Amino acid sequence: MTTFVFEPTALNALSILGTKRLFPVNQIYCVGRNYADHAKEMGHEIEAPFFFMKPAYSLMPEGGSFTYPPLSEDVQHEVELVVALGAGGSNLSLTEAKTLIYGYGVGIDLTRRDLQSEAKAKSRPWDAGKSFLHAAPCSKILPRNDDIEFAEIKLTINGEVKQLGNVNQMIWRVPQIISQLSTFFPLYPGDIIFTGTPSGVGKINPGDDVVASIEGIGELKLKVIGNNQC
Ligand code: MN
Repeated sequence: MTTFVFEPTALNALSILGTKRLFPVNQIYCVGRNYADHAKEMGHEIEAPFFFMKPAYSLMPEGGSFTYPPLSEDVQHEVELVVALGAGGSNLSLTEAKTLIYGYGVGIDLTRRDLQSEAKAKSRPWDAGKSFLHAAPCSKILPRNDDIEFAEIKLTINGEVKQLGNVNQMIWRVPQIISQLSTFFPLYPGDIIFTGTPSGVGKINPGDDVVASIEGIGELKLKVIGNNQC
């Protein structure tokens, strides 16, 4: 029997609607600029979306409070449809890509915008902007293996609507995202993909009650807590 020199860090997991069994999360992928109106609000030309990643400790299952991370005074919300993969593969066609879909969730791609903007300005990798503890809160997973073509996607802060769009505005729909991603990286069961955000991104502040929702998929509530460094 294999033994380790210390206990491996526990695997992260998400709850699944309708069962007590958990969805074990492997890699966390994200799509950048998959909604034209968000690309525009960030000052970018409309071009093909692209991928980046968040580390395992970014995942925060629903029900948690989000503590403001260090080194930032401008953490911003990006509500996103999250697709959870139940199978893996490489170089997948659109038809093959669709068969990987296990279910969907509602996520928020939290971003230290100040650190990201600094990295962009210096042409450096933007990991510090996108990767920190609990930078990827996600709702329960709704098992559903179809392509989501049309669903309102929304984020409110203290009851006020900040982001409102529809997943039909995505430049790459879900099967295309999975197919494209599989040409860059080997996909495995348990991988989850944040599929991009509509316009209206902005700052969250300590004390805020954030509610992200997608029609027919679910809702994710987040309470923002301050730290001593900001
Ligand atoms: Mn995003």
